[in-house]
Amino acid sequence: MTWEIADSQLTNKQLLINESLFSLGNGYLGVRGNFEEGYPGTYQTIRGTYINAFHDVTDVHYEEKAFAYPETKQKLLNVIDAQGIAIFLGEEQERFSLFEGDVISFERKLHLDSGFSERIIKWRSPGGKEIEMTFRRIVSFIHRELFAMEVTLNPLNFKGPVTLISTVRGDVKNFTDKNDSRVSSGNDKRLNVIEAVQQDDYSVVVDRTLVSNLEVACVSSLKPFISCAKSVEISGCSVSTVLTFTLDKPVSFVKRNVYTDTLRHRDNLVQQGITIQRQIEGLSFEDLLAEQDQYMTMFWRTADVEIEGDDRIQEGIRFNMFHLLQSAGRDSVSNIAAKGLSGEGYEGHYFWDSEIFMFPFFLLSKPDLARHMLLYRYSILDKARERAKEMGHRKGALFAWRTISGSECSPFFPAGTAQYHINADIAYSYVQYFLATDDIEFMKRYGLEVLVETARLWTDVGHYFHHQFRIDDVTGPDEYTAIVNNNYYTNLMARHNLRWAVKVYHMLKEKDGTDFSELSERLHLSEQEAAEWLKAAESIYLPYDATLKINPQDDTFLQKAVWDFDHTPKDHYPLLLHYHPLTLYRYQVCKQADTVLAHFLLEDEQSLDTIRHSYHYYEKITTHDSSLSSCIYGIMASKLGEQEKACRYFTESARLDLDNTQGNTKDGLHMANMGGTWMGVVFGFAGVRIKETGLSLSPTLPESWKRYAFHMHYRDQILYLEISGAKVTCTLVEGHHLDVKIYDKDITLTEGKSVSFDIPA
Ligand code: BGC
Repeated sequence: MTWEIADSQLTNKQLLINESLFSLGNGYLGVRGNFEEGYPGTYQTIRGTYINAFHDVTDVHYEEKAFAYPETKQKLLNVIDAQGIAIFLGEEQERFSLFEGDVISFERKLHLDSGFSERIIKWRSPGGKEIEMTFRRIVSFIHRELFAMEVTLNPLNFKGPVTLISTVRGDVKNFTDKNDSRVSSGNDKRLNVIEAVQQDDYSVVVDRTLVSNLEVACVSSLKPFISCAKSVEISGCSVSTVLTFTLDKPVSFVKRNVYTDTLRHRDNLVQQGITIQRQIEGLSFEDLLAEQDQYMTMFWRTADVEIEGDDRIQEGIRFNMFHLLQSAGRDSVSNIAAKGLSGEGYEGHYFWDSEIFMFPFFLLSKPDLARHMLLYRYSILDKARERAKEMGHRKGALFAWRTISGSECSPFFPAGTAQYHINADIAYSYVQYFLATDDIEFMKRYGLEVLVETARLWTDVGHYFHHQFRIDDVTGPDEYTAIVNNNYYTNLMARHNLRWAVKVYHMLKEKDGTDFSELSERLHLSEQEAAEWLKAAESIYLPYDATLKINPQDDTFLQKAVWDFDHTPKDHYPLLLHYHPLTLYRYQVCKQADTVLAHFLLEDEQSLDTIRHSYHYYEKITTHDSSLSSCIYGIMASKLGEQEKACRYFTESARLDLDNTQGNTKDGLHMANMGGTWMGVVFGFAGVRIKETGLSLSPTLPESWKRYAFHMHYRDQILYLEISGAKVTCTLVEGHHLDVKIYDKDITLTEGKSVSFDIPA
């Protein structure tokens, strides 16, 4: 059953993990997979509902503060809880709980194909009443603001009074953990309830943040399909609807929660919520499911990756793609948080994870969402310009290492602000977008400005020494090594950034002639400055060690002692939770792919020999303590023909959250890794590359797989690739004609025609 994630465990540990695994979202709204009726008081829960980018601003406290340290940061908030439904059976009012009485059967399912979750329960109360219950929920892809739930009750051995209480609660808190730096340690209560009322038969709760002054409203309706006695209880911070009825046959209730917020809906939140409620009033829960199913069918039609031969992997990759779809912001004020909308790890911040790990999936599977991701970055470009100034740069823009609304949220600069590579990562995604879409208009309106401002920053931060352009005191992707000179990844990506700023500038200038002068003036562009960028690019220093035949991670990396892996206890991983950062910085030990990642992103910038030697060198000293690592090592193992290893890394990545291998899935899903899984198939096993020279493929088939297949959107056309047995078949399913390189052979595909190749031995 590779379209369904199912589980029936009731241990506290697994329930917490399942809250993330079974979370639902639509890029705007996210709801964790909590139980409507809750858990026993002794159980831990992270009960959460999130609106992408809906945040408060909190102070950052330092004992010793230096210039330009962020004074505040943003924090994604857990918003109004509308999940609550409690059920009481019989005259005795026996409260339904899976932790009391007898659970005759229980299963919950996440339907990846149709986009909803359900819990199917047979339960016997302590007093002997047997009941079958089904809870189904969706966060709608069609109605952005809607989280809908349906409860069906079927009495098996009794007839009698039942009470159902549906609650909307505004006094919510965020989760904190003092012992894990990846989770917030304070500021848990950031919302005040400003309204909790019954209006026009809707339960209405409105909350306001303490500092950012944002408001969120939930307008909730409850529809029974049986005659009931109804009353409403208002507590000041919550509204409960109490329905009492006689249960003698199966009956359903539908609760629709509509969320609005001032980031998107500006004002009249409640009125707008009521309007949305009225618009969807005529739709039954089945109708909502049908709409959702139709959306998902369209999505999977060209996004699915089919893998035959390993069901656990098939399940993993579909699960990961489903959550990517659920997490991506679809408006220019939001992006994809490191944990999507599934949890509170990293406080809902957006990182380079979006561009380097998730963007490629959207680019080739759902380009409209990829575009939104770029537009979000464009929308915070002014904030990046401000940050560059604050950081003492005379020109350019510096994107925040972690942020929601654009300003820097990282109080720990060695593994935060110092990661200047985020600028080049963002630039890289604009270039990839251009290469895959040929959308020059987009580059004119947005892309050029981002490329130019990021290129400007490199020329300001770098300097010439012995005719080489060098970048000092930055941190590369590997966070176990910080503040170094000439991080290979950063320098190589900066070169790409600089070169492309020049290229797109010239491209637009030539194409648009005088039309270009307005943009050129606005951005103060000149041939002289473009020449400076090119000069810096062409003279950038890229460390190379001739003895080891590798690219050293930075100027001093190879001079350090190698970490003593043999004497590091297994339970000391991830190292960041057991060693002071300085201890880690003093050794050759990598948290994640760094140079190896550069070799993947810009593979033509060094010889295959250097790539191979580097891979084997860094592999020995990389802990993969970051979930952004195994997927890259897998892709590069594929490139180097190390198939068994590629499969091992790929499996790790595909099942990382489903098997909770990082141990912190409860705090939310690892979105970058999820994108990495997709890259593992497409860029890894299928060897897809998007370059200036066009689209190329060099597929291989992992030994344990029988077949795999997927679609790719490329330049407004859709390509289908199937690798089965010893054959690769490539079909242009939509489009006119497409030039593609398969195993270094140039071929032209025409619509509907397939070409087949033997996989080279
Ligand atoms: C990784 C970063 C990543 C961040 C958010 C950290 O553990 O080292 O590269 O951006 O997590 O996912």
